[in-house]
Amino acid sequence: MKIAFIGLGNMGGGMAANLAKAGHEVNAFDLSEDALAAAKDKGCTPFTDAREAVQGADAVVSMLPNGGIVKTVYSDSVIGHAPQGAVLLDCSTIDVATAKEVAAKAEGAGYAMVDAPVSGGIAAANGGTLTFMVGGTPDAFERAEPILQAMGKAVIHAGDAGAGQTAKICNNMLLAISMIGTAEAMKMAQKLGLDPQKFYEISSQSSGYCWSLNAYTPMPGVGVESPADNDYQGGFATALMLKDLRLAMAAADEADAAVPLGARAASLYEDFSGAGNGGLDFSAIIKTY
Ligand code: NAD
Repeated sequence: MKIAFIGLGNMGGGMAANLAKAGHEVNAFDLSEDALAAAKDKGCTPFTDAREAVQGADAVVSMLPNGGIVKTVYSDSVIGHAPQGAVLLDCSTIDVATAKEVAAKAEGAGYAMVDAPVSGGIAAANGGTLTFMVGGTPDAFERAEPILQAMGKAVIHAGDAGAGQTAKICNNMLLAISMIGTAEAMKMAQKLGLDPQKFYEISSQSSGYCWSLNAYTPMPGVGVESPADNDYQGGFATALMLKDLRLAMAAADEADAAVPLGARAASLYEDFSGAGNGGLDFSAIIKTY
């Protein structure tokens, strides 16, 4: 299959390489020359013009920074430029409203399109072990699925256009709340004189059980090994968590959904990131306690 890949950054670089490794012919496009050179080294064909990259493609995959860029790239260079039969897959994390708008425009022009944001960071993108949550028609999903399989370990159809983005931001809002809750409880236990490792042992087998505590313990030397044990380097950056929380707050506003804890989590991450911690893993929020 000939696949055009747009956006070869931290995530897209590894994803495009995995498509090439799976035997696809990958036309790679990015504004960055370094990203293009790296993609070439990994078996992709570099293009300096997006419209040329999508010519003759059976599928177009994008992994871009935000909704504004996704909208511009699809309007200017994909819709009306890729062959009509191509399936379009946007894997970026963007706002639900823009995802729906771009999909509607693509469908209006005769394309099948899915939003397919990912769970998993740079290591999962490189290793081909991402989880994709997919929004789109059953037909679009069926066509996108084998392409996503080549870059991930799980591909789940969430519902209609925009449902992938909805799943992603609701999941990450829950993650932010549970990480803050975990940090708060661990520090409180410690201040009350309880050994944090004992707290971990008890709560991870009690009703406090959750991913943030059991699989990503935010305190160094306690529980499982996590970015906390590496000075909060690597993992999922605070700045990216904040991006997802802002998207969640915008979506909640639009849907008139009550999110008092999500809003509090967004404001705590806003402050933590604003204090110069955007590059640290999001579990470093425990430092504020
Ligand atoms: P990144 O900044 O490393 O990569 C984005 C790439 O897009 C860059 O190479 C940039 O040059 C390119 N780009 C920007 N505008 C462009 C345009 N108009 N045309 C072509 N290329 C353009 O970002 P990333 O970390 O790879 O993240 C990409 C997406 O994945 C984001 O939506 C992010 O929220 C999401 N995401 C990231 C992670 C992570 O851990 N990094 C995890 C899950 C989801």
